[in-house]
Amino acid sequence: MNGETQELGFDPEALREKYQRERDKRVREDGADQYFEMAGAFARYAEEDPYADPEYSRAPITDEVEVAIVGGGFSGLLAGARLSEAGVADLRVIEAGGDFGGTWYWNRYPGAQCDIESYCYLPLLEELGYMPREKYSYATEIFEHSQRIGRHYGLYDKTHFQTRVRSIDWDDEIKRWHISTNRDDDIKARFVVMALGTATRAKLPGLPGIDEFEGHSFHTSRWDYGYTGGDTTGGMTELADKRVAIIGTGATAIQCVPRVGQYAQQLYVFQRTPSSVDWRGNKPTDPQWWETLQPGWQRERRENFNALASGQPVAVDLVHDGWTDIFRNVVTAPKGADKPKTREERAQVLEIADFRKMNQIRQRVDDTVEHADTAEALKPYYRQMCKRPTFNDEFLPCFNEDNVTLVDVSDAKGVERITPKGVVANGREYEVDCIIYASGFEISAQFRRRLGIEINGRDGMSLFDCWADGLRTLHGFSTRGFPNWFYIGVSQNAFSVNMTAMFDDQARHIAYVIAETRRRDAITVEPTDAAQDEWVDLLNGFHVGGLGFLETCTPGYYNNEGAPRAGSAFFGAYTPGVNAFNHLLEEWREDGEMAGMELDRPS
Ligand code: NDP
Repeated sequence: MNGETQELGFDPEALREKYQRERDKRVREDGADQYFEMAGAFARYAEEDPYADPEYSRAPITDEVEVAIVGGGFSGLLAGARLSEAGVADLRVIEAGGDFGGTWYWNRYPGAQCDIESYCYLPLLEELGYMPREKYSYATEIFEHSQRIGRHYGLYDKTHFQTRVRSIDWDDEIKRWHISTNRDDDIKARFVVMALGTATRAKLPGLPGIDEFEGHSFHTSRWDYGYTGGDTTGGMTELADKRVAIIGTGATAIQCVPRVGQYAQQLYVFQRTPSSVDWRGNKPTDPQWWETLQPGWQRERRENFNALASGQPVAVDLVHDGWTDIFRNVVTAPKGADKPKTREERAQVLEIADFRKMNQIRQRVDDTVEHADTAEALKPYYRQMCKRPTFNDEFLPCFNEDNVTLVDVSDAKGVERITPKGVVANGREYEVDCIIYASGFEISAQFRRRLGIEINGRDGMSLFDCWADGLRTLHGFSTRGFPNWFYIGVSQNAFSVNMTAMFDDQARHIAYVIAETRRRDAITVEPTDAAQDEWVDLLNGFHVGGLGFLETCTPGYYNNEGAPRAGSAFFGAYTPGVNAFNHLLEEWREDGEMAGMELDRPS
C-alpha cells in the first residue's frame, strides 16, 4: 500500500482503472443510433395518450394570434404567465397532451417524484400562494400545480389541447408564422415561443424482435394503469399474477422499480449501468417554517441553489440536500487556504473528492443489499456527474425481496433481443407477461429528431440546416433568419438541474423582448449576424474542459453515448452559471438598447 492509498483509505489508481474498464465495456459502436425513434411502427409507444379522450375531435382552425406558445408544460406555462404580466394578452398555447403539465402530464409512473426540492422547483409559489406538501413533491402534486398555474393566468381558454404542431413556416409577405398541426389547423402567429421541454420524446432501445413480443409492453412515460391497476401512488393489484421486466435503471426506473416490485409476482430489472442512488430523506413541509418566509424568498432560494451549483460562496446552504452536497463537495474545489493553486491541482482535488463521494454511494449499496453479487452489480463505477445522480430510499432495499431479480447486462452492452415470450439477456430467455421500457428520452439527440417539428424561417431555410454545424443563437433564445421566433430550453444559455427556475428566467426575458418589440412599434425582431457570432464565440471558449471530462465517462445521454464531441446534452452551455447568465440578461434589459437585436419598423 503506498502512502497516498494509506492516507486516503482507498487506492485512487485502482479506481481510475476500474472506471476505465467499466466505461470501455459499455461503449457501443452504434452510439446514439442504438435507440429507436418513437415513430413509424413504434409511434404507439409515444403518440398515443392513455390519459385523454381518444374520441376527441374538432374542426380545423384557421385564425391569427399575436403570440403562439408551442408546449403547455412548465416552460410554456411560464411563457404564458410572464407574457400576460408583460401585458401581452392575445396568446395561444398549443399542447399535444389533454391538459397542462408536459413532463408531469405524461410521466405518471408509480413513484414519480421530482428530485429537486419542491420549494425551488415548483414555479410561481409566491404568486399563487401555494405551499408544497413535502420537500420533494410527487407527480400528482406537480401536475396539479401546473393546472393551478393554467387557471391562475387564464390559460385554459387560450389553449388547444390534444394538438400536435407539425411545422412552423415564416411568411415574409405577411410577417407571420404559419403553424400547422395534426388537426389540419393553420394558425398564423406574429411571434412564436417554442416551449417543448427537454424530455419530450421518449426513445426505445433498438432491440431485435421488439415488435414481436406477444405480451403487453409500454414506455414509462405512457404508464398503462389499465393493465397494472392502481395509480401513481400504488395499488397495482393486477400485477399480482404477472411476470414483469423493467429495462433500464436511470432516474425513472429508480422510482418505479420498488413500486412494481411491491405488486408483481416476479420482477426482473435489466440493468446495463447502475445509477448512483443517494439518500432522499423526504419530509412534510413544516407550516410554521413556511409562515416565516419573507417576500422574494423563492428567488433567493433558487439563487442560493444556483450559486452553490457554480461554486460561488454562500453564507448558508438553504436547500441543504443531496444535490447541494454534490455541488459543495464534488463540483467545487475548496476555497481559502486549501484552494488549489493550479488547474492540475484543482482537477486532482476534485477527483479525490469524487472518489470519496462515490465510495460512500457504493458503501450504501453494501449496507443495504443483502446478496453480495447483487450488491456488487448495483455499484456505480464512474465519476458522480457522468450520469444523473439519483436519490431514493426504496430502490436498493427492494432487491432484498424474493420476487425482485437484478439482471446485470453490462457485459453484453445491454439486453440482447426481445422474443414473442420475453427478454433475452446474457444468452438466457426471461419469459415475462409485460415489458416496461424505462429507456429514457431523446435528450441529447439532434434537434430535428428531438423536436419532431419542421421549422422554416426566411426564404424557407430550415432551422436544423441552419444549426447543422452547431447552434447559432443570441443568448440561446433566437436565431438570425427566424424573425419573432424564440426558444425556451437547454441551448446556448446557462444550465441548471432545477429546470423550472431556468425556464422561468428565460420566459421573463423572452416576454420582455416581445413586449419591447411591440412597444417600439417594430414588426419583427431577430439577432444580427455579428451579435450571434459573438455569442457563439464566447460559448465556444467555455467547452474544452467539460468535454475532456465527458470523454472519460461511462456512456449515456450526458455524453452522447460516449461520443461527446459529436454533441452532448449540455454541450455549449454558458458555464459561469445561471446567476451570472441572469445578471448578464438583466444588464442587457436595463441597458434598454436591445443590443444585438435588429428591429424592423414599418417605413
Ligand atoms: P435514462 O436515459 O436516464 O435511462 C435509460 C435507462 O435505460 C438506462 O439505465 C440505460 O442504460 C437503459 N437502457 C437503454 N438501452 C438499454 C439496453 N439495450 N439494455 C439495457 N438497458 C438499456 O432515462 P430516464 O427516463 O431514467 O431518465 C431520463 C432523465 O429524465 C433523467 O436523467 C432526468 O434528467 C429526468 N428525470 C428526472 C427525474 C426527477 O426526479 N427530476 C425523475 C426521472 C427522470 P445505460 O445507462 O447503460 O445507458
